[in-house]
Amino acid sequence: MVSRVIPVEPFDLVIFGGTGDLARRKILPGLFRRFRAGQMPPDARVIGAARTEMDASAYRDMIRDGILKFGGEESRDSESLEAFLQRLDYVAIDATGEGGWQHLAGIMRPGVVRAFYFSVAPSLFGPLAERLHQHGIADQEARIVVEKPFGRDLESARALNQTLAAHFREEQIYRIDHYLGKETVQNLMAVRFGNVLFEPLWNNHYVDHIQITVAETVGVEGRGGYYDKSGAMRDMVQNHLMQLLCLIAMEPPFRFEAAAVRDEKLKVIHALKPVLAHHIVRGQYDADGDGPSYREEAGNPRSFTESFIAIRAEIANWRWAGVPFYLRTGKKLRARHSEIAVVFKDLPHTIFEGDQARHRNILSIRLQPNEGIDLFVTIKEPGPGGMRLIDRPLDMTFATALGEDGKDVPDAYERLIMDVIRGNQTLFMRGDEVEAAWAWTDPIIAGWERRNDVPKLYDPGSSGPDDALMLLHREGRRWRDIRG
Ligand code: NAD
Repeated sequence: MVSRVIPVEPFDLVIFGGTGDLARRKILPGLFRRFRAGQMPPDARVIGAARTEMDASAYRDMIRDGILKFGGEESRDSESLEAFLQRLDYVAIDATGEGGWQHLAGIMRPGVVRAFYFSVAPSLFGPLAERLHQHGIADQEARIVVEKPFGRDLESARALNQTLAAHFREEQIYRIDHYLGKETVQNLMAVRFGNVLFEPLWNNHYVDHIQITVAETVGVEGRGGYYDKSGAMRDMVQNHLMQLLCLIAMEPPFRFEAAAVRDEKLKVIHALKPVLAHHIVRGQYDADGDGPSYREEAGNPRSFTESFIAIRAEIANWRWAGVPFYLRTGKKLRARHSEIAVVFKDLPHTIFEGDQARHRNILSIRLQPNEGIDLFVTIKEPGPGGMRLIDRPLDMTFATALGEDGKDVPDAYERLIMDVIRGNQTLFMRGDEVEAAWAWTDPIIAGWERRNDVPKLYDPGSSGPDDALMLLHREGRRWRDIRG
């Protein structure tokens, strides 16, 4: 199989915050991979912009280091790497001042796509948007890319949307959620809407429940200050987990395109029921031997912030009434493991004896590690000795199913950046979606604050607090294992 890489249009991509962690670790290594794959046209340019004074050559040195460190095996291709670095330029600019803007205006080329990646703190979105306009740098077709966190509640998200809307149309704004750029997430849509097999079963007649788990092994480490004001609900649930939930639960869009997909996702958020207090478990990791506790790492001995959360959510519509959606995410858990599991109902009747009836079909969509989709089906254990049933996965892991092509799937960031250049917003969040998601999470967070809710302690390396296990146990269900 030969993979088809279609080059995008020529572009000038300006990365504000071009010297920052995200730019060095994700954005530029991702762009390099697209360059190597032949997707970046020869006259595409990437312009780093940040406060530090330096010239293009010093910036190239900085980015070379970043790509060598974070770019994986491909960064050893030094010929490509040097050719890619020649596509880079740098402008020293202060988002809140006047220096550098005229220079940037002078080097932008007419007739190519203009994209501006705001890889900076959200407090700088407004000043950047305003200056891009003031200096005539953003044309009518220019695109801006903004990072999470998009607000910390409904009010701040609304304010951010209004700030951006003062200078850009919604069609120009790309709110990134890198979970949507993952190959498996898109494959989920291909599997759901490209086969006749699944959609008839995708409802409360056949689905018992759905689990969405995003487990990390790392703690808050250097990000403690930021994280302590945020917590798992704001940092992970309001964006990544809710986006996954929307894609799993949405009605089939009439076409795979931005407006149709985003309309359907929004309907799911609107249909989410308010969550009862006893359907939520918050946790905070404890100390472990030499390992610091959450409170020590966050530098806040009285912190009530959750580093783990489990939620039993419900969607009030005909398709999903009565089907629980269990969401769970946390830090310092047993393994780095992200999965969406669609657990189908028991057979209405079994013709087999003993505990054979307990076999269930599960569709497991793994985001990490080892992206892929498994459909667990019941088969007969081979050999003599009667009818013994076992569950085995039909494996759709990309590297196995697609051979060499499967190994070369683009990482989420690089795919999404190419979508920005192509002007395709399907995998980005629309302003009203983000606001609706906050409107669902805000009352939950307000409830904790009112009650001074104290998260349950859990051991690092575990699956979270025992209460989270009980959330399912008391309904006769169990979480899927967190395993690497
Ligand atoms: P960082 O602190 O490493 O980098 C910030 C960048 O902004 C630097 O290049 C800095 O020079 C520039 N900057 C700061 N003030 C400026 C000003 N007044 N004018 C011009 N440039 C200025 O931050 P980061 O980790 O790269 O994160 C950038 C944004 O992306 C943040 O909003 C963060 O929340 C978000 N984000 C980061 C990650 C990540 O993995 N690092 C993941 C998701 C979202």
